[in-house]
Amino acid sequence: MANTLLKVSGLKVAYGGIKAVKGVDLEVREGELISLIGSNGAGKTTTMKAITGSLGFEGGDIEYLGQSIKGRGAWDLVKQGLAMVPEGRGVFTRMTITENLLMGAYIRTDKAGIEADIERMFGIFPRLKERKDQLAGTMSGGEQQMLAMARALMSQPKVLLLDEPSMGLSPIMVDKIFEVVRDVSAQGVTIVLVEQNAQRALQIADRGYVMDSGLITMTGAGKDLLVDPKVREAYLGH
Ligand code: ATP
Repeated sequence: MANTLLKVSGLKVAYGGIKAVKGVDLEVREGELISLIGSNGAGKTTTMKAITGSLGFEGGDIEYLGQSIKGRGAWDLVKQGLAMVPEGRGVFTRMTITENLLMGAYIRTDKAGIEADIERMFGIFPRLKERKDQLAGTMSGGEQQMLAMARALMSQPKVLLLDEPSMGLSPIMVDKIFEVVRDVSAQGVTIVLVEQNAQRALQIADRGYVMDSGLITMTGAGKDLLVDPKVREAYLGH
């Protein structure tokens, strides 16, 4: 079996008195595409923030590459290959597309490799190439989402966490984003995908986790969850 890259055990996170995550266990193995689905407020984003070191946790543990991330900052984890594309994307709006991509490579020093990777990103996302000198803030939501993903890939992550990449996008853009997620996964990047679009997320996932009120309520192969009556009723609307 492939190596475990991420292991979350008994994770608890609270915002003051609000218990957002109440004891979550999940495991991500090398090369997997994992989808985490659940309704609004289930605690998915909070779990992702704890994994990337941008939010502290009060109980349980998170191991990345076999070591606890406790006390390690987000910066250290990015250097170790853990990258996240946050909800709402967070591109640098006053920078061009090319400048945004260079920012994604800030932990790297291999100039030739960085340039080759920018070309590789332009191959994956031709739309970004056409607009490489345009300010990111003037691009459409879907284009900004592509840029955010490309920027994260510029850090050469081992694990890429994507928080609701399809949110607010037109159906054509949603198709494109899911296609790219599958392609990036096929190139060997391990992916954790948080999605409201449960149908699409489970279709492309090797395995899925269902989260509700701060807990994991179900887990299994993506294709099994997709046909599970409880999942269908609660998250797929039929
Ligand atoms: P969504 O799909 O709507 O983004 P989610 O599953 O990602 O939901 P979280 O954003 O993790 O859910 O939120 C989990 C719970 O924690 C919610 O009840 C939310 O209101 C609460 N919460 C999130 N961020 C904060 C915060 N900064 N301060 C207080 N409560 C918060």
